[in-house]
Amino acid sequence: MSEMYDLTIVGGGPGGLSAAIYAMRAALKTVLVEKSVPGGQINLSDEVENYPGFEHISGAELSMKFAEHARSYDLEEINEEVAVIEPGMDYHTVRLADGRALQTHAVILATGGSPRKMDIPGEDAHYGKGVSYCAVCDGFFFRGKKVIVVGGGDSACEEALYLAKLAAKVYLVHRRDALRASMILQQRVKADCNIEVLWNTVLTEIKAGEQGVNAVTLQDTQTNAQHDMPIDGVFVFIGFVPNNQLVPAGIRLNADGFVITDDKCETSIPGIYAVGDLRERYARQIVLAAGDGCLAALAGAHFVETRKAGTASDACELPVGLL
Ligand code: NAP
Repeated sequence: MSEMYDLTIVGGGPGGLSAAIYAMRAALKTVLVEKSVPGGQINLSDEVENYPGFEHISGAELSMKFAEHARSYDLEEINEEVAVIEPGMDYHTVRLADGRALQTHAVILATGGSPRKMDIPGEDAHYGKGVSYCAVCDGFFFRGKKVIVVGGGDSACEEALYLAKLAAKVYLVHRRDALRASMILQQRVKADCNIEVLWNTVLTEIKAGEQGVNAVTLQDTQTNAQHDMPIDGVFVFIGFVPNNQLVPAGIRLNADGFVITDDKCETSIPGIYAVGDLRERYARQIVLAAGDGCLAALAGAHFVETRKAGTASDACELPVGLL
């Protein structure tokens, strides 16, 4: 016999945990399914400086605070991978990798995104041997060494600043002649004498020896001229792609694979919501993911109440209709 929930939240990052807090406060029978640890991507952030109320906090500490807050309402959690989500007319079914099936009136998808890859020779082959997508996780191994950070956005700048405290030299490689990052981060990067920006440049290959990565091939995006450069590590921060593998067929996605929702985070299937980095939106911030979680949970609570009221009145009316 499958369990029946009011709301199933898939993903335990800021969006999912914020949704859990609001859902529990709305007295919804809620379960949160997360295959890994709570927090999602923010666990990889060394320092978060723009979540209101915290001038400086590590990503790991902030995610722990989110989780503790949600757990204070006795949130039910399942530490398992979701295999598939099957939308239904009366209820939706969330099937877990271990074979369990959760029946639920509403679903909030909070599965976030993953690092975008450059898709160049050597990137996959040398992952973990000098190629990384997480400075906080791997920066320690590059103390006193020379590293490249690829990208021009907030992530690349933040991670370059982090690595500049450890590495002998950080080259920030950007494909254009202007950074995309917020002005405050751009100013910090420019002021850091341990960071050199290589403008109008892309990597075309990552090379390695027995000890791991030892060189890259750089290409000038204006002249197409190429040259090799010795390097010990390559950190890639060129945006991310949405984790949309669990989004059921029939839900509208934009051209980049982000879920299109209305202003209540509802997708094109009633009762299924998408929040945070999975959702098409102007900016991607922790505070916005948390805000989405709130919206989706409140909208979901209304959806569940309406559906239950409809079912209850149907139940009352049915015998009358049968008379
Ligand atoms: P992003 O803002 O999308 O920046 C990606 C960067 O990578 C851009 O500079 C882009 O170049 C470059 N790029 C993309 N594809 C490339 C490729 N194939 N080869 C070389 N370069 C490539 O991604 P992000 O920095 O990860 O940030 C994602 C979102 O999270 C943003 O909304 C950001 O504001 C937010 N974020 C905020 C903070 C914070 O507030 N502290 C921290 C991290 C992230 P172009 O500029 O030429 O497009």
